[in-house]
Amino acid sequence: MRLIIYLNGDFVPEEEAKVSVFDHGLLYGDGVFEGIRFYNSRVFKLDEHLQRLYDSAKAIRLEIPLKLEEVEEAILETIRRNGLHDGYIRPVVTRGPGDLGLDPDKCPEAFIFIIVASIVLYSEKYYQEGLDVITVPTRRNVPEALNPRIKSLNYLNNTLAKIEAKNADVLEAIMLNNDGYVAECTGDNIFVIKDEVLTTPPTYIGALEGVTRNAVMGLAQDMGLTVREGIFTRYEVYTADECFLTGTAAEVISVVKVDGRAIGDGKPGKITQKLTSKFKELTQTTGTPIY
Ligand code: PMP
Repeated sequence: MRLIIYLNGDFVPEEEAKVSVFDHGLLYGDGVFEGIRFYNSRVFKLDEHLQRLYDSAKAIRLEIPLKLEEVEEAILETIRRNGLHDGYIRPVVTRGPGDLGLDPDKCPEAFIFIIVASIVLYSEKYYQEGLDVITVPTRRNVPEALNPRIKSLNYLNNTLAKIEAKNADVLEAIMLNNDGYVAECTGDNIFVIKDEVLTTPPTYIGALEGVTRNAVMGLAQDMGLTVREGIFTRYEVYTADECFLTGTAAEVISVVKVDGRAIGDGKPGKITQKLTSKFKELTQTTGTPIY
């Protein structure tokens, strides 16, 4: 299928969707983005994603050339022009074209584009059987340098960790922060469950505030479970009853092995399975209508 892309105010066929080689998003990773899903003709948690996009932009002092409501409408219209009902949407805001120097003030205007596509991160087999992951040597960026709460175009830290995971023949990697505490994965947040208590790292230690993470925390609370943000090490992962990852693309996926240790009985846990189906239900029944 030939996709229609939103390109800075215009809707163009994908082969015409081009960005300048002088764009600082390309030259320096200077920009921000979002990854959003739509299900059943509704965009899931659109307001939360838009708020994070604007917060990320604010944090890097990037002015998005459109109002939040205008970006929202551009997203919905991009999906409509592609006639899709389920899929993945990627708004990207770059610093825009400038000169070869680093100075962001030499880029007169930010550039925005929106790509709509489908995404399959893990095959069905992994949702049934769970993931085998490892902890990688590359540490998550320290918040004092580049705060992982900023969903920036600079994903090299995550890419390096992904390479290490792939070298070990696994699909995802646990990244620790500089103090050795579990932070998150290369593109997902992480949860452990012990004695029916769910724990996920607080974002201040160096993790993205995942929209899926927050939604799952709400679902778990609705199920009467205790949910908390807390700092933990690999020991708490190895000895957990259950472990799972959350992300827009991954949704909720069980982790059954970490660094060669089986988690729980080595099969997707009961609570994780329940949360997976509750999350699916939420994605199918809520969201901003597209049509
Ligand atoms: N952490 C990182 C590093 C991510 O890139 C993502 C999104 N792919 C997540 C966590 C999960 O966030 P969300 O649930 O908002 O997609």
